[in-house]
Amino acid sequence: MTTPTTEDSAAAGAYRVLVLNSGSSSVKYQLLDMSDRTRLAVGLVERIGEKTSRLVHTPLVGGGAERRERTGPIADHEAALKAAARELAADGLGLDSPRLAAIGHRVVHGGLRFTEPVVIDDEVLKEIERLVPVAPLHNPANITGIRTARALRPDLPQVAVFDTAFHTTMPEYAARYAIDTETADAHRIRRYGFHGTSHAYVSRKAAELLGRTPEEVNVIVLHLGNGASASAVAGGRCVETSMGLTPLEGLVMGTRSGDVDPAVTFHLMRVAGMSADEIDALLNKKSGLVGLCGDNDMREIRRRVDEGDARAALAFDIYVHRLKKYIGAYSAVLGRVDAVVFTAGVGENSAPVREAAVAGLEELGLAVDADLNAVRSDEPRLISPNYARVAVAVVPTDEELEIADQTFALVGRDRGPVVQAHN
Ligand code: ADP
Repeated sequence: MTTPTTEDSAAAGAYRVLVLNSGSSSVKYQLLDMSDRTRLAVGLVERIGEKTSRLVHTPLVGGGAERRERTGPIADHEAALKAAARELAADGLGLDSPRLAAIGHRVVHGGLRFTEPVVIDDEVLKEIERLVPVAPLHNPANITGIRTARALRPDLPQVAVFDTAFHTTMPEYAARYAIDTETADAHRIRRYGFHGTSHAYVSRKAAELLGRTPEEVNVIVLHLGNGASASAVAGGRCVETSMGLTPLEGLVMGTRSGDVDPAVTFHLMRVAGMSADEIDALLNKKSGLVGLCGDNDMREIRRRVDEGDARAALAFDIYVHRLKKYIGAYSAVLGRVDAVVFTAGVGENSAPVREAAVAGLEELGLAVDADLNAVRSDEPRLISPNYARVAVAVVPTDEELEIADQTFALVGRDRGPVVQAHN
C-alpha cells in the first residue's frame, strides 16, 4: 500500500475510498483513509422514498465531532447520496476532493463471471444488470447506487466488490444442485453463496490469530447476523458455503427459514392457495427466528428464554441445532479443521449461542472455555480452552474495510491507467 507524499498532487494524494452499500431503501456509507486504513466518517440514509427518511452521519475526525441526525423526505438514491455528500463536505471531506481515489460498491451478485473486484465500466454494469433475475432483491439497488455515484463523480474509478466472489472457488460438486442439468444451466441455477466479503476477511483474520498463513489453515466461518451463513475455507479458498442461488438457503436467520424441503413451496401453493410472491415473502421475511417466536433479535430471545418463555426457547434450540449440523457437515467436508470462527452481530456478541453451538462436539475436538467466552471485546480472540484440538474464535467482521482494501488495491497504486480506461 502506498502512502502519499505530496498532498498537492491529486494522483499521489488520492488515498481516500468511499464505500457504498446500497439497499432497496437505504444507503450505508463509510469514508476511509487508506494511508492508515482508518475511518473518516460513517453514515446511513434509510427509508429512502418515504416521508420519514432519516440520515445519520458520524464524522470520526477532528475529535469531539458529534453524530448528526436529520429526518425529512429523501426522494431517491440520488438525493440520498447528495445528502451524504453534503454532510461529508461539512466535515471538510467533500466528494469533490482530489484526495478521493475511488468509490467501492458492495454488489451482492456477481454470478460466475466476477471472481475478483472490478473497475466498473458500461460493460460491467450491463453484466450486473444481467444478473438481476438471480438477485431481484439486491442487484437493482446496487445498480442504482453505482449509477448515482458515477453521475456524481464520472471521472472517478468505481469498483464493484461482489458478495459472491469469494465463493467462486467452490468445486463444481458443491456448487451444483442435483437437478436436471439443462434446466439448471438455462436459468443459471446453482449455489453461489453470499457474505463472501465477510467470509474472506474473517477467515484471513482467523489464520492471523492462529499465527499461521491462510494457506496453512482450514476454518469454518459462521457469519451470524440478521442474515446468516456458514463457510468451509480450506487453505484460504472457499470450498463450501450454506447460502445458495439466493441468501435463503442454509442456517436459520433473523427472518429467513434457511433450509426447508423445497416441496413446502408447492404444498403451500396447492393447499393454501399462496402465490409465488407470497411464499417468497413468507420464507424470506416472516420465517426464521421471527417466524418461530416473533422476535429476531437474539438479545430479546435470550431474555425471553431466561424468563422461561417456551416459544423463544424452541426458536433458540432450532437455531442452534441447525448451526451444529453445519459445523458437523463442514468438519466432514474439510477433513481437518483448525478453527471454528464466529462473526457478525450474533456471532460476535452472543456467548449463549457460541456455547450452545459447540456443546457436545468434543469428539470433533471442539470446546468453549466459559470465562473466555464471556469476555466482551472488539478484538479477534480465542474462546477455546488450551487442550482443545480445534480453536474456537470470535473475529469481528469488517466488510467495509475489506471492500475499501480491495478497491484501493485495484486503483490506489496506479490511478493513471484506470482513469484512462474510464474516459
Ligand atoms: P446484518 O445482517 O443486518 O448486518 P448484524 O451482523 O449487524 O446484522 O447482526 C444483527 C443481529 O445481531 C441482531 O438482529 C441481533 O440478533 C444480534 N445482536 C446484536 N447485538 C447483540 C448482542 N449484544 N447480543 C446478542 N445478539 C446481538
